[in-house]
Amino acid sequence: MTEILLEVKNLVTEFSIEGESVKAVNNISFTLNKGETIGIVGESGSGKSVTSLSMMRLIPNPPGKITGGEILFHDSQGVVNLCSVPEKEMQKYRGNKIAMIFQEPMTSLNPVFTCGDQVMEAIILHQKLSKKESKEKTIALFQQVLLPRPEAIFNSYPHQLSGGQKQRVMIAMAMSCQPAILIADEPTTALDVTVQKTILELMQELQLKNNMGIVFITHDLGVIAELADRVLVMHKG
Ligand code: ADP
Ligand code: MG
Repeated sequence: MTEILLEVKNLVTEFSIEGESVKAVNNISFTLNKGETIGIVGESGSGKSVTSLSMMRLIPNPPGKITGGEILFHDSQGVVNLCSVPEKEMQKYRGNKIAMIFQEPMTSLNPVFTCGDQVMEAIILHQKLSKKESKEKTIALFQQVLLPRPEAIFNSYPHQLSGGQKQRVMIAMAMSCQPAILIADEPTTALDVTVQKTILELMQELQLKNNMGIVFITHDLGVIAELADRVLVMHKG
């Protein structure tokens, strides 16, 4: 039985610059089911990242704004339109029920904190665990994403890790709250091909464990062919 996680209906996101308004996302609709991977492909500038940031309600305002449509999040408690919940309530969804990983890990990882502290902070924020429990959970997550010497990585700063390792820390952080939905915006584009392959396998494994829905954004059709159950093609929004 398919269970709907997310329904995006007629979504419009506009940027307004010097009185001119550009529809970066122009009336797109799709659904995401439990355990499913949908791919979003499209040329650079077609609106893929704006789509994913809209789902997280992370569009910088000004100049951007969601000006139309609905983003319906389904769970056991019912259906919520993420476009209309207050910001405070949105924080219950963002990072918790819907997590995101980016192409560039340094946009998610803060250079001045250790990797362990950053993942712990995400866990403490959303799960109300003690410091000791959060540390144990963080180390367990680092093991799960196959980081070598998790204790050492826990105490390392992001710049001390390789690109692939940083990406694994970011995935660990995204997985820390067992999100229903993972949005991955070109998560492996900056990595070499072998590292890319292991990261993608890792994401698929984690998906199976948690029956997660994944929105996978890429311009790499080979990757999409391997991962996605369905594909959306974006063109000029
Ligand atoms: P991509 O498909 O490469 O991820 P984006 O979603 O990042 O493309 O961008 C789509 C379009 O949205 C851009 O071409 C640009 O016109 C507009 N856009 C995105 N971010 C901003 C911003 N911060 N300010 C103004 N316009 C933006
Ligand atoms: Mg992009």
